[in-house]
Amino acid sequence: MSGKTLFSKIIDREIPARIEHEDDHCVVIHDINPQAPVHVLVIPKKPIARVGEAAEADQAVLGHLLLTAAKVAEKLKIADGFRVVINNGRDAGETVPHLHVHVLGGRSLAWPPG
Ligand code: 5GP
Repeated sequence: MSGKTLFSKIIDREIPARIEHEDDHCVVIHDINPQAPVHVLVIPKKPIARVGEAAEADQAVLGHLLLTAAKVAEKLKIADGFRVVINNGRDAGETVPHLHVHVLGGRSLAWPPG
């Protein structure tokens, strides 16, 4: 059995997904269960489990995820209002143990979040 994460399987095209963007360091896919009109996930190709387990050596890739989130928000026409979320750990609702940045927009977003 493969030890690959679900998102690594998507990155390797073993599981289909709607891919919005790909570069050397990350992919951006549309969430299968969108919580807003636009809901994409920015996923590093390196399978860092969660932000709490990122290392100093991951600094550049972590920055790249946010810069990519902003570029994709612009491309998807939600640059005037979007939310970036990282769920870290079970109590925060993390369900896939491969770091991913949610980018949500296209509707007004309440604060505080649930
Ligand atoms: P988390 O709950 O870990 O922060 O976020 C995981 C996200 O991955 C959820 O929003 C969920 O809908 C999404 N997701 C889970 N499985 C798949 C899948 O197979 N394809 C896609 N595109 N999204 C998925």
